[in-house]
Amino acid sequence: MNLRLFFLLLLASALSLNAQQTPQQLADAELPSLLTIYKDLHAHPELSGQEEKSAALVAKELRAVGCEVTEKVGKYEKPNHRPFGVVGVMKNGAGPTVLVRTDLDGLPVQEETGVPYASKDKAKNDKGEEVPVMHACGHDIHMATFIGVARALAKLKDQWKGTIVFVGQPAEELGIGARAMLKDGLYTRWPKPDFALGLHDSAQIEVGKIGLSEGYTYANVDSVDVSVFGVGGHGAYPHKTKDPVVLAAEMINAWQTIASRENNPTDPIVVTVGSIHGGTKHNIISDEVKMQLTVRTYKPEVRERVLAAIERIAKGCAVTAGLPADRMPTVKVRDDEFTPATYNNPELTKRIIASLQKALGKEKVESKDPTMGGEDFSEYSLLPQRSIPTCMFDVGGVDAAKFAESQKPGAAPLPSLHSSKFAPVPEPTIRTGMIAMTSAVLDLMKK
Ligand SMILES: [Zn+2]
Ligand SMILES: [Zn+2]
Repeated sequence: MNLRLFFLLLLASALSLNAQQTPQQLADAELPSLLTIYKDLHAHPELSGQEEKSAALVAKELRAVGCEVTEKVGKYEKPNHRPFGVVGVMKNGAGPTVLVRTDLDGLPVQEETGVPYASKDKAKNDKGEEVPVMHACGHDIHMATFIGVARALAKLKDQWKGTIVFVGQPAEELGIGARAMLKDGLYTRWPKPDFALGLHDSAQIEVGKIGLSEGYTYANVDSVDVSVFGVGGHGAYPHKTKDPVVLAAEMINAWQTIASRENNPTDPIVVTVGSIHGGTKHNIISDEVKMQLTVRTYKPEVRERVLAAIERIAKGCAVTAGLPADRMPTVKVRDDEFTPATYNNPELTKRIIASLQKALGKEKVESKDPTMGGEDFSEYSLLPQRSIPTCMFDVGGVDAAKFAESQKPGAAPLPSLHSSKFAPVPEPTIRTGMIAMTSAVLDLMKK
């Protein structure tokens, strides 16, 4: 073989290698770099509304792969949250528009994972108190995966057409980040997507696997403040008072009958009283008890009915206790903190399942039970009509041996998301997430 022919053959094989590039190969090639990014993000998490450095990193990486990037996107209601939304647009001719989202924020948790890259960082919360910060929900996994997906799709431009809108979303843990970005013109200043995709790492699925469900996958989350009023006095003379502590106890029990007696059992609901405060001393009957509730539902009509029942029962209990009209309890639904239910569009979800099964193997894609947890990813579907099909899937983060151990009878439960001990195994989680998301986008935007 002459030298010229040899080089031609070499060039041809290099070109054909290039032409056959797959999400799997790109994930393997990018993994060392993504792992470095992950460990740095993990060691330096930022609280919701303070994601300055994480957002800047995501913006820099999107720019590096050729996206048109805008930073500081978002309009919050409260001035103490600074907007750190990132939008990166990757254009590749005419075709569908797909939104890919990562969240950016960590949580006020003292890390106890013992990993060498554990966070020791602290930050000031909204009240000005110094608190520990940890990526206890794995949003660092999401960012590293997202950067990998952007790098892969930039290299695979010969295989897709259209526009990808990469969204780095702040303040997911407060349920306000997506809404703030939409309010700042996410769907008017940038191309409005035909589909929106997101992923979340899972503390209950083993590495290498994906879990997803069709239809409702996360719940409506409502925060409700209840003030119960009484007529205070001496603890020894209850007949001269109206005791708001006893009244609050009656309400708490009566609210549980919303789920057990008023609701169609096939519609899941949760009414949890997470906080209750009243009184100052053993022998004083107080004037007031304050309660904070979290209320979880799926369907909008069920949500409205449950919230109305909470108020009706609270007032009914107060009337029964003989409270005068001017001492009725107040029930305030905090609309500014509402997180709508996340709904995986069935048609889109079927397409995504097919893509994931092809990319990862049939046995790696599991159907997952929906949860009563919340996710503001739902906002990208454009509520209330859900006119944009969205799909969010879970990426297993649990070490295979630990997962097998947890399945044995009597075994301790695995640390959940938000636990100080939640430590996803980064390499396989990022790899699987990157292959899954890249393959899903490629299939939706196929040339
Ligand atoms: Zn979380
Ligand atoms: Zn999360």
